[in-house]
Amino acid sequence: TVGCVTRDAKGNFAAAISTGGTTITFYGRVGDVPMFGAGIYAGPKGAVACTGNGEDIVKHLVAKAAYDLLAQGLPAQEAVDRTLAAFPATIDLGLVAVGPATTGGGCNYSPEKKAFVTDYRNQMAWSVRE
Ligand code: ASP
Repeated sequence: TVGCVTRDAKGNFAAAISTGGTTITFYGRVGDVPMFGAGIYAGPKGAVACTGNGEDIVKHLVAKAAYDLLAQGLPAQEAVDRTLAAFPATIDLGLVAVGPATTGGGCNYSPEKKAFVTDYRNQMAWSVRE
């Protein structure tokens, strides 16, 4: 899964996400990625993109849950950390978020998800320099 969250100079937010899905899957499976509120969310207060076990991300509406914390005014890293803490720790999850003035990213355990978040942080460092 590749996820992207952004804020432009006027304070507008957007998120984009794409996935190959899971390795063993049912024909016609949709997953969390195309469901707004599940794997992706953006609104006036921020944007969120997720990776991990799609079925569980859908059940917990993870992107919307993290966004709601941004909308309450939490810094993005705190919104990410609280979202991860509220999710079952044994289920794969990673997410990235951007709020009005902050960015955040985190994952629960899988090295794959750590790479997702590390790539994001590197990209953020690059765009801040620009
Ligand atoms: N969330 C994706 C899915 O379940 C898979 C992933 O992020 O690795 O389709």
